[in-house]
Amino acid sequence: MSDAKSSEATPVDKEDSWGYDLYPERRGETVRPKWWQIAIFGAGQTNIEKITCERNVYNCFENSPLVQLMYSALKASGCEINLRRHIACEVCDIKVSGGYDPKLNQIVICQNVARDKGIIQGILTHEMIHMFDACRHELDFKSLHHLACTEIRAANLTHCSFMSAMFQGDASFFRIKKQHAECVKTKALGSVMAVRPDVTKEEALAAIDKVFIKCYNDLEPIGRRIRRNSADMFRAYQEKGNYGYD
Ligand SMILES: [Zn+2]
Repeated sequence: MSDAKSSEATPVDKEDSWGYDLYPERRGETVRPKWWQIAIFGAGQTNIEKITCERNVYNCFENSPLVQLMYSALKASGCEINLRRHIACEVCDIKVSGGYDPKLNQIVICQNVARDKGIIQGILTHEMIHMFDACRHELDFKSLHHLACTEIRAANLTHCSFMSAMFQGDASFFRIKKQHAECVKTKALGSVMAVRPDVTKEEALAAIDKVFIKCYNDLEPIGRRIRRNSADMFRAYQEKGNYGYD
């Protein structure tokens, strides 16, 4: 899960204080639009948002090479993934844009926050990495080190690789590498802290540092860090055969 700006969270049960409050619909409550939402958009807005969100998700599965790569990787690893069963568009706290629910093995897309296809592609890929780790590496989301590891992997393979593309050109290779690693750490820290409010910044950092080298270098199943709008997205998709995916 990630921090405020482009974020998602991992909802578990309330007792674990795992940010479950961020997903009101997960608690079986129907979210009532705030008075100003009704005033501006009318009460039907929530339904329109849901339909738009589901359409965007479907579009990503049809057209995004990254989402398709993760989909193949999950299937090839024996991890079941079905659009209707495993992806849900819901109303969330505005602090998050998506999340992975390990209990239900479900990816949540926050329909009221993530309105753009590009953002939804980013969330899907990020959360599918958590899904892959949960299934393939028997991830224990209650373990701080496991959580730190999967957040490092998600930031590394998606978010920070998009960002690193912007630094290329004027920066030296060494600087790019350093900036990239810093980006992954910062992003992973934000994600860990957002799902685990019970953990201090120091504890979260210590957990990230402990597993960083191992998890940063684990590029499965994407195989290379992906840069946005680069041939990498398509290359990663074409090369998926090398990893045993169909
Ligand atoms: Zn995450």
